[in-house]
Amino acid sequence: MTCDEFLATIDAYLDDALSIMDILRVHRHLLSCECCYRVMGSEATLHSLLADDAARDQPPGSLRERITLRVAAEERARSKARARPEPFASRSAILAGRLGQASSSSSTDLRKQECGGPDTSGS
Ligand SMILES: [Zn+2]
Repeated sequence: MTCDEFLATIDAYLDDALSIMDILRVHRHLLSCECCYRVMGSEATLHSLLADDAARDQPPGSLRERITLRVAAEERARSKARARPEPFASRSAILAGRLGQASSSSSTDLRKQECGGPDTSGS
């Protein structure tokens, strides 16, 4: 392992995300390279400080409640918007309908054939 490789894997090492083989390679490099050993020391200290800070920083109990209320309100607003169509949405629906008419003649013929069609209805 080179020093560059070590620096590239140091975060994964501190996050316990390396395979056993990679961990062994990191340890072997640290035994032979004093510079990286020092880097590892300061990175490990920083990592543990961040971990402590993250563990201490708990969100307030009301946060979950506020998020739940907000999501519920947005869902209600969204379902209301769906109930009364906006002019833009209806215009695009009309356009889609026209496009569908232009290209759907063959598919409706197929559907008629599947349903029996007009010529096999009575006699
Ligand atoms: Zn090194």
